[in-house]
Amino acid sequence: MKILVIGSGGREHALVWKLAQSPHTEKIFCTPGNAGIAQEIVGQASSLSGATHRQDACATKRVECVNIAADDLPKLLAFAREKKIDLTVVGPDNPLALGIVDLFQTNGLRIWGPNQKAAQFESSKVFSQNFMEKYGIPTARAGTFSDATAAKKFAASLNGKCAVKADGLALGKGVLICANENEANKAIEEILVAKNFGAAGANIVIQEFLEGMEISLHAICDGKTAKLFPTSQDHKRALDGDKGLNTGGMGTYSPTPFLSDAELKKVGDAILQPWLRGCVEEKINFCGILYPGVMLTKNGPRVLEFNARFGDPETQVYLTRLENDLVELLDASVSGTLDKIELKWKSAASVCVVMASGGYPGNYEKGKPIRGLDDAAKLPNVKVFHAGTALKENQIVTNGGRVLGVTAWAKDLKTAQTAAYAAVEKISFDGAQFRRDIAAKAWQ
Ligand code: AMP
Repeated sequence: MKILVIGSGGREHALVWKLAQSPHTEKIFCTPGNAGIAQEIVGQASSLSGATHRQDACATKRVECVNIAADDLPKLLAFAREKKIDLTVVGPDNPLALGIVDLFQTNGLRIWGPNQKAAQFESSKVFSQNFMEKYGIPTARAGTFSDATAAKKFAASLNGKCAVKADGLALGKGVLICANENEANKAIEEILVAKNFGAAGANIVIQEFLEGMEISLHAICDGKTAKLFPTSQDHKRALDGDKGLNTGGMGTYSPTPFLSDAELKKVGDAILQPWLRGCVEEKINFCGILYPGVMLTKNGPRVLEFNARFGDPETQVYLTRLENDLVELLDASVSGTLDKIELKWKSAASVCVVMASGGYPGNYEKGKPIRGLDDAAKLPNVKVFHAGTALKENQIVTNGGRVLGVTAWAKDLKTAQTAAYAAVEKISFDGAQFRRDIAAKAWQ
């Protein structure tokens, strides 16, 4: 099978790495990809152990990165046609929201991911909130508004303790957490009146502020069936102890100890059963990953938001644990045959530590040489996924905010955490920053 993976982050590297291990895979292209993705080799057993790649591997087996932006739909379509791609796998949310799945399907191409209507679970928070309320999915008390006066009145009824959310995609920055009425009014003004998020902020959702432990859930879906993954937890803040600015995610681990298997099944059912029922009712054919962000409150689990794709860096921990052939799994998701597949997990735990550029999520410099990648790759059960990296004069250099996702898997969480940090210690670049407490919440 010839596969095209769209995207360039650590999530896409993990997808490529896992797809490359499938006997069904003949060739992988990645648009635009990164320096680490370009080192992967289809069918090479070394990618299972994390060992360095053999230089003499057949060139055609090497993953080919092609410089087409993830949101350049016409070029992606032309490329997939020219290369006779058998399956396209979409990583990021933006092309999904733009309707890449509809476009490819109309042109007779097989593609994995939700279509534009289904991708609304992520691309419109108003849509999601209304859907959750209509179908009884446990969520925060909330209201949706386009009028600032009505919004302020609702925020006041919550004493200003709320999350004010721009409806559309806003590069992960469209959620403002408010502690009092002043902050809430300011947030409402920023989005609805000053239009700081442009059209994405024409409407807003205001949710009551919820306290508890936040976890990520993932379920792979085919329109009729949704299969739940184990739990994972991201670390959104830049600094240890959940201090500092919000980021795209500084590390993950899986599983979390906050839900037993039986509790996870209960939480999964409480979300997925009404969700599937709603999808049937609304004629939404969701093929892809549904990724609810969930707060475990003292009154039970509450969905904060839905994403409609794999999380980053959740993918890195999930795919280093997954035993199933990923090509078969995605294929079943496209074909509507997920009910015939049982998810299997080969390693008990996995931890991913993100190494970021100095200054991230604020301004940072690019082009810093990265040292120690080969040494880290020699460690057993370790895989260094690349995110913001590039190849410059034969040297891998930093090329983004989040640079690497150093991932280790093991028989338990503690061993995986120790192994991930041992690998991090081997790697260096000027200004490198990372959290030293990824997975620490598991023992708090
Ligand atoms: P979202 O993109 O909707 O998940 O929001 C981003 C982050 O804001 C979440 O990961 C939470 O940490 C936080 N957040 C969102 N909604 C709420 C809420 N209702 N109560 C507390 N925190 C929230």
